[in-house]
Amino acid sequence: MNRNELLAKNRWKVRYSYTCTCDPTCYYEKDGRHTTTTYLNRGEQDQGAEAVAAHLARYFKAEGVTVEEVWQETDAERDARIAAHQREAANEARGIWWGMGGAN
Ligand SMILES: [Zn+2]
Repeated sequence: MNRNELLAKNRWKVRYSYTCTCDPTCYYEKDGRHTTTTYLNRGEQDQGAEAVAAHLARYFKAEGVTVEEVWQETDAERDARIAAHQREAANEARGIWWGMGGAN
């Protein structure tokens, strides 16, 4: 599967909370915990909440990870993600073009 095919697929997302270990306690914590959302890697959604929590804890070095919700992005969310990615790629391409122009 190439990059574009991967991008075109609706990805799985997870919302999870974890213990705030900030010192001093940060502004973002609620009841001593942070809540955030991220994408899952391919197939992780089938491994169960416990495995996902363990992976998030390892990957983000977070403590007390609790998976709140796992869901697959809607077509609209997917399209927005792809559009953002394409804008980024276009900006990058322009940056390279400008860079080359500047070398003349
Ligand atoms: Zn914090």
